[in-house]
Amino acid sequence: MSTPVAAHNLFENSEVFRMACEQLRTVAAELPEFDVGIIDRLMLPKRSLVVSVPVRMDSGKTQVFLGYRVQHSLTSGASKGGLRYAPNVDIGEVAALAMWMSWKCGIMGLPYGGAKGGIACDPAKLSLGEKERLTRRFTEEVLSIIGPRVDVMAPDMGTDEQTMAWIYDTYSMKIGYACPEIVTGKPVELGGCIGRREATGRGVVYCILEALKELNLTPDTCTAVVQGYGNVGSVTCDELHKLGLKVIAIGDRYGSIRNTHGINIPALQKYVLAPENERHTIVGYPKAEAIPDDELLTTPCTVLIPAATERVINKENAGKLQCRVIAEGANGPTTPEADRILAETDVFIIPDVLCNAGGVTVSYFEWVQDLQQFMWDEDQVNSALRKQMHKAYSKVRHKALSRKLTMRTAALSLGVEKVANEKAKRGLFP
Ligand code: NAD
Repeated sequence: MSTPVAAHNLFENSEVFRMACEQLRTVAAELPEFDVGIIDRLMLPKRSLVVSVPVRMDSGKTQVFLGYRVQHSLTSGASKGGLRYAPNVDIGEVAALAMWMSWKCGIMGLPYGGAKGGIACDPAKLSLGEKERLTRRFTEEVLSIIGPRVDVMAPDMGTDEQTMAWIYDTYSMKIGYACPEIVTGKPVELGGCIGRREATGRGVVYCILEALKELNLTPDTCTAVVQGYGNVGSVTCDELHKLGLKVIAIGDRYGSIRNTHGINIPALQKYVLAPENERHTIVGYPKAEAIPDDELLTTPCTVLIPAATERVINKENAGKLQCRVIAEGANGPTTPEADRILAETDVFIIPDVLCNAGGVTVSYFEWVQDLQQFMWDEDQVNSALRKQMHKAYSKVRHKALSRKLTMRTAALSLGVEKVANEKAKRGLFP
């Protein structure tokens, strides 16, 4: 495999992008049937746009933000992926997340390529009006490369249903008619899919249940530790709690809490959403003790669920983990060095591209419903999600066992193989 020279300038400063490339190189070794040129094409995103986004702040001053939209692959259909608002987001991180989306859509058999977007900002420090102006202006700036058959956005870290509603409205105003299929993860009243908000967390839990079954463990005898209490983390906690699995420690960006008898998740949720809890944080919840952040991931438990951000399980802490299963709700939480350390232990890893794929799967259901203007009910959504997750989980598990691969290499190779196959069959233009 040759190394594309251009990659050095644009993306290679990012550790997250280098990590995604290293994973692809590992997987390419398992797929010798593909031409080197095809793997080289997959190593770089198809299209990347960097935009400056000027916003009139509430103070009356103008602030300029940097925004990104990266489409990794358009081979399998429209590209699909979240939009992230986070202070340190950069083009390399967005490109890595776009690449992972391609493999995820491949594993789930969805007719999409991968994409991702981001704006470098701290959403916690923006007013609602500032967030709306930021989102609308960003949408305008990337208008030339998005479209319901080109690139479809969804929520990710720091963005939510409201963000998608603003994108939907801005795009519809530009083209002159309502176009709900331009985004997924919108409010249900605007053509959103029932169950989309919960889909990623539910998918994580379906995967955990499969892993526990294989390990002969029942949920009511198990414990969980969750990093991140946003969309993915909070729904995962709630679903686990309903199954009788004790969530004993949780962390968010403001701190970490622990109660070894099990945290009462509905009570915690009430505490987090209370209007007087302005940062909507878990910190200060009275029925748990505060613990240092660096103790969270190493707390002894059955299932560890990173559901916040990248590279949190790394060579410094991988050897100290005391869990039986890692269920990756977040994208890219485990570095390749940590993977190598964990491969020497009996920790069972459910990799991100499989574990958190429930979100994009229900996004696909939403897109299909919007295109057809024919909406499903919640039972239909949930049973289709469960079926797709089980199917994908067993495909990955079968590949891992039959080829003696780690779950991550098995999952990635299924995703890469699908996209590479389609590229090979379509040929190279011109
Ligand atoms: P979110 O913004 O709703 O929540 C993020 C949570 O992580 C918050 O509780 C925040 O306080 C916490 N957090 C942020 N940085 C942290 C840190 N350094 N340490 C501890 N906690 C931290 O985001 P989300 O949508 O739940 O996404 C979380 C992860 O899941 C991301 O990696 C995202 O890419 C991935 N993911 C999300 C979806 C989805 O449908 N939302 C789908 C697939 C994957």
